[in-house]
Formats: sequence, structure tokens, C-alpha cells
Amino acid sequence: MKLFKDILKQIKKYDNIIIARHIGADPDALGSQFALKEIIETNFKNKNVYAIGAIASKFRFMGSTDKTDNIDYTKALLIVVDTPDKKRIDGIDELEKFPMIIKIDHHPFIERFSENSIEYIESDASSASQLIFKFALNLKLKITEKAAENIYIGIVGDTDRFLHDYTSQETFDLVNKLLKLTKIDFTRLYEPLYNRPLSEVKFQGYIYQNLKLTDNNVAYIKLTDEILKKFDVDSASAGNMINDLKFVQEILIWVFFSEDTKNDLIKANIRSRGPIINDIATKYGGGGHIYASGARLKSWDEAEQLIKDLDEVSKNYNEE
Ligand code: AMP
Repeated sequence: MKLFKDILKQIKKYDNIIIARHIGADPDALGSQFALKEIIETNFKNKNVYAIGAIASKFRFMGSTDKTDNIDYTKALLIVVDTPDKKRIDGIDELEKFPMIIKIDHHPFIERFSENSIEYIESDASSASQLIFKFALNLKLKITEKAAENIYIGIVGDTDRFLHDYTSQETFDLVNKLLKLTKIDFTRLYEPLYNRPLSEVKFQGYIYQNLKLTDNNVAYIKLTDEILKKFDVDSASAGNMINDLKFVQEILIWVFFSEDTKNDLIKANIRSRGPIINDIATKYGGGGHIYASGARLKSWDEAEQLIKDLDEVSKNYNEE
């Protein structure tokens, strides 16, 4: 594919390469980032590759991030994975300094990163990790065991174990090739990925017990700082459990609101198994995929408003 060759040309051209991804990194953001870093380092010696952005301690088993304090951005290549818009890039706010930016993403297109950026977007691909593997496989680049593990974790993470709609024949084909090629012991990866403290399980029980349901099949829960403290979990915990409500008969759309006092916001995780929700998320300054979106709200009033909007969307969907 010409696009892959164009990206490769840029990778070969630069000595310093920074790889970024979205804020609130999940296994796919990290998997694609760390795998690409490892692939570049393995195939092109003498390159300095930096993976940047904040990482939650529970994902440290996937890799660690780097500092870029002394890097001259005007002479470096920036690669951004799993991120459709500038405001969600973690760790870089001077995009205009980079002579070249490459985007590798599976979200619906939002904006170009710069006038001369190269953008590889497949918005119906399961994950950014799938795209990194496709890129490396197509160019016959060497893929180490560690890179393969991170690709696998990224695909499994974003498809929720091959459950979601963007899991395709191509996903299985690529995973099959990945396993054949690298012989990774993939079942061993589930423990670090899914292992969690009992406090989180109890918190999940609280969510299930206290979910509210609107007349039009929208389920929601407001998780205040007080509740999070009571269960000894952080504001990102609920987000990791949101996908587990996918097949509940009475629920078409579901939202978890988690108060984040440190950043003075309320994080909304929104999911749907029918109505399209990302345009509503965008209305509240967020975004995402058609059935999986998120937003950062300023108040509980805004949360109420979002519930009303989602209820309306769900009502229309039911009527259709
Ligand atoms: P989450 O609920 O955090 O797992 O996010 C689901 C999807 O929505 C992901 O594809 C995110 O990239 C996207 N998303 C989450 N939060 C935001 C936000 N504040 N702004 C834009 N997109 C978001």
C-alpha cells in the first residue's frame, strides 16, 4: 500500500520520533503506541523513539513512557496513534512545531493534524493496534514478541474479547497471522489485563444495584467522589466496567458519570447497542465512535441534560 510506504519513508527520515496517543490511555492506545515504538526500534537501529503521555499504574505491565524534555520538536517526527483530534493528544500541545505528523487511527475522522500530515485512518477497524500490525505486516517489518503481545492486548482490549461490532473477518485474519508469526503465549496475557482488586468488584455490584433506567431504555448512574472514596476506587474505574452491560434486555444506551475532583470535571462513559450516540457526545464537547463515546462534563446539571438528550435519541430509535 502506497500510504504505508509513505509513512515508512518518514520514519526512515527522522532520528527522533515521538509517539503519542490519547489522554486517559486504554489498552489499545498503549498497545498501539508501545508496539509501534518497539517495531521502529527493532527494524531501524540508531533511532531515538519516545512513547509519551500519562499511564495508569495498572497498565505498566505493557511498557513505560519516556520524557522528551530535550527534544527539538522542529527536527522530530510525531506519530499519533488512536486519536482523532488535537485536543485529546496526551503530552503534546505544540503540534505546529513538528515538520511532519503521522496519524494512525480507527476513530471517525474529526480533523487533520497539520497541513502536510500523513493520515492513515480506517474508522471501521477494530483497534489502532490492528492497524499497527497491518502496517508492519504489509511492510514485512520484524515484529518482536513484546510488540506482538501489546498488539494482541490492544485488539482484545478494544474489541472486548472480539465482542464488539468492529470485530471483523480481517480482525481474526490478522490475529491469526500475528499468532502464527510470533507464537506468543496469548492466554497468559489475560491475567495482567483483567486482574483487579476485590474493591472494584464490590463497586461493580454497587453500580448494578443502583443503576437508574429512563422510560426509553437509557440506564445511568452518577458516581460522586464520595461514592468512589467509599469503595476505594478512582474516577477511571467505572469506565473499565462500562462494556459489561452490553447485553441487558431493558438497556439500549447506558452512561456512567464519574466525578473527578482533581480535574474538576465529570467523566461520562457512554455506550449504545442501537442508537447512534457520538454526535450527542460531541455536543457536550466529547466524541468517539457511533456506539462508544465519552465526554468531560462541567456539572451535574450538564449530566442531567445529557441523559435527556440520550433519552430522546433512544425514544426516536424505539419509534423507528
Ligand atoms: P471511554 O468511555 O472513555 O472508553 O471512551 C469511548 C470512546 O469515546 C473512545 O473512543 C474515546 O476516544 C472517545 N472519548 C472518550 N472521551 C472523550 C472525550 N472527552 N472527547 C472525545 N472523545 C472521547
